[in-house]
Amino acid sequence: MLSLTLREVSLALREGRISPTELCRKCLNRIKKTQHLNAYITVTEELALKQAQEAETRLLQGAPKGPLDGIPFAVKDNFCTENIKTTCSSKMLKDYTPPYNATVVQKLLDQGAVLMGKTNMDEFAMGSGSTDGAFGPVRNPWSYAASYIEQTGATPDSDWVITGGSSGGSAAAVASLTSYLALGSDTGGSTRNPAALCGVVALKPTYGLLSRHGLIPLVNSMDVPGIMTRSVSDAAIILGILQGLDTRDSTTVPAPSSPTELPQNFDIKNVRIGIPKEYHAPGLSEETLAQWSHVADMFEKAGAHVEQVSLPHTQHSIVCYHVLCHAEVASNMARFDGLEYGHRSKVDSSTESMYASTRHEGFNDVVRGRILSGNYFLLQQNYEHYFVKAQKVRRLIAEDFKHVFSSGIDVLLTPSTLTDAARYTDFSQEDNRTRSAQEDVFTQPVNMAGLPAVSVPTALSRRGLPIGLQLIGPAFQDRKLLSVAQWIEQRVGFPSIADFGDSNESRIEAGVTQREQTSAV
Ligand code: GLN
Repeated sequence: MLSLTLREVSLALREGRISPTELCRKCLNRIKKTQHLNAYITVTEELALKQAQEAETRLLQGAPKGPLDGIPFAVKDNFCTENIKTTCSSKMLKDYTPPYNATVVQKLLDQGAVLMGKTNMDEFAMGSGSTDGAFGPVRNPWSYAASYIEQTGATPDSDWVITGGSSGGSAAAVASLTSYLALGSDTGGSTRNPAALCGVVALKPTYGLLSRHGLIPLVNSMDVPGIMTRSVSDAAIILGILQGLDTRDSTTVPAPSSPTELPQNFDIKNVRIGIPKEYHAPGLSEETLAQWSHVADMFEKAGAHVEQVSLPHTQHSIVCYHVLCHAEVASNMARFDGLEYGHRSKVDSSTESMYASTRHEGFNDVVRGRILSGNYFLLQQNYEHYFVKAQKVRRLIAEDFKHVFSSGIDVLLTPSTLTDAARYTDFSQEDNRTRSAQEDVFTQPVNMAGLPAVSVPTALSRRGLPIGLQLIGPAFQDRKLLSVAQWIEQRVGFPSIADFGDSNESRIEAGVTQREQTSAV
């Protein structure tokens, strides 16, 4: 049951092959067995059982709320959840309990979905490793699968690999079979990156299609909620539920009228697939490159037109993202001053010293560093030189995509990440900062252009770890993008983690599954 897709488990619930409470208990049990992954910051056990019980009553009465009734889901800990801690994996918000649900969370609850908990992440979603949160790093579930252990001779407890980030907890929750769906947030790649490294699907919808109301902002001009699932068609179902106008988020637009259900036999013939030549980036692993070529060949053999295209401003995207992100971070983080939300320092000899020590104590140095450089970019004498210039470069990056799509290209095929997941011990905290500036080379341009993109797992590397590819499409072509992604999914036969046994079962018996926490919190 646990390894089914959302669509499959929905059917099982409807046919009475399992009840919502049985399913909920199975998932809670699985969360306990996988505590060592540190995927969840808060497990909402009591609430989940209550919601499952309510779903059960509805199903027994033959009156389900919707297709998600009774289905366990997880939410990244930067989405507000009513009366449930929402920490952003930061000491600043470690005891913060919002009084309302984010729109996307509420929409899932309205369909009867069962909230299992809040997932771990990089602090305030800044990072690409899920190694930089106040509650300790997230471990990639594939570290414990036979595919990795047998290929590398690794000892999972010391050689475990990162999940990628910043929505690493959400990716791990879906991959380790504790939730059928998870919400992440994607500002520069934070759902696609961990999805690729954990072997799950992530959709970063077109900017404006999903409400960000209740998503604690990182970069307002780029943030979108992301959908993480085990199959492409599951992502399409969730897109259909979450999309649409929200009066509480002025950037949202009405949902397109096209059905979200994907065609089973999508005709790939004559679809024009672009391969951006600039995405042959430094650091791209041989294996990821081989996967990229392999899938491009599959398209070609099936009658699609595969052609090389150019996105000439790609080389500037990391620097451009850096300036814009830090500038918006500097203003977004100003709200955390010890007065309204979260942590307040005991040092209060003056208002200024209270502000300063609250922020010093509450934020990690990644956040503080971004606030510092963001304010520097926004200084009156620097504003034109950094911020305005970066805005202009952003426009050029967006125009590159526009140009390619207006020449008739339907979708772009690229890698999602440069390599498969790194070992945690090879990925120092310092690395998370510099690497996150490089690892996002394929994902950040998409956020700057506001386009939809999907990461789909295609193969296991020689180390037995997932590799994912990314498809990028024109704005509001999310459904078409998913249709092409499903075409790939149907042909690559990416395995389920359940196929590789669970080396953790023996660890549980040996009593070695205590969750690791940093001493910080
Ligand atoms: N890695 C990027 C950053 O650190 C993207 C983060 C995200 O998408 N939330 O800003």
